[in-house]
Amino acid sequence: MSDCLFCKIVAGSIKANVVYDDDEVLAFHDLNPQAPLHVLVIPKRHVENLNALDDAELGGHLLRVAAQIAHQHGYAERGYRTVINCNADGGQTVFHLHVHLLAGRALHWPPG
Ligand code: 5GP
Ligand code: ZN
Repeated sequence: MSDCLFCKIVAGSIKANVVYDDDEVLAFHDLNPQAPLHVLVIPKRHVENLNALDDAELGGHLLRVAAQIAHQHGYAERGYRTVINCNADGGQTVFHLHVHLLAGRALHWPPG
């Protein structure tokens, strides 16, 4: 999608601090981090949100990549959180599916 922010990051026309890249998935640091480690893991192809995800393999791959990045940064044992916001009540602001990976501080539950 030409007007999608994260598609532009995939295309390289908007810069991001990339931490993982393969044929299907890209991961980069969030511009406005909410934890010492805050990475967004996205599919390279445009998927609007979790409602639109019809590919279980891709969904699993996104989660595996998030876990791998947490491990590489030393947070596997301590723990971390993955979040997928969907639509208005979920707090989604960028309409290209992304998994938030948050780590490096104790995170509260329930979320606000
Ligand atoms: P959402 O609220 O849709 O779940 O999350 C969108 C996330 O994208 C937010 O955490 C926000 O900080 C991040 N974000 C918005 N614009 C940019 C950008 O241009 N670059 C990066 N790296 N992150 C962005
Ligand atoms: Zn997109």
